[in-house]
Amino acid sequence: MKKSTEEVFATKNIRLTTMRILIYEYMEVATVALSLLEIEKYFHKADKVTIYRTIQTFLERGLVHKILDENVAKYKLCGDVCSEDNHKDRHLHFYCKKCKETTCRDEVILPENMESQLQIDEIQILAKGICEKCLNSE
Ligand SMILES: [Zn+2]
Ligand SMILES: [Zn+2]
Ligand SMILES: [Zn+2]
Repeated sequence: MKKSTEEVFATKNIRLTTMRILIYEYMEVATVALSLLEIEKYFHKADKVTIYRTIQTFLERGLVHKILDENVAKYKLCGDVCSEDNHKDRHLHFYCKKCKETTCRDEVILPENMESQLQIDEIQILAKGICEKCLNSE
């Protein structure tokens, strides 16, 4: 069963504010990773600093993870496994050069045994190419 926003925020230790709820629910329905600019555009009436701080809070609390594609940082919701200061987003990201969309690819996950000798704080695995959607529309 899908968790409510209140439940998700409680498990990640995030205080509820209207703006946080709005941004979270917007990111929840997004199928692609969103840049700060895209989030700002969507909430154009909101204060940019508030939006920025909200994303930083989400990042710190393990609610969203950051993906760097070309030169843009994008954000996507994490799974339940992530917690405060402990991101476990070990999956591949795919950047489409045509539609510029970045998506999480949970079917490709870095094996966990890598961490027996290392401390990994952040994982960035990025593949670039043309996505299914763009390939099929050619
Ligand atoms: Zn995460
Ligand atoms: Zn594409
Ligand atoms: Zn991801």
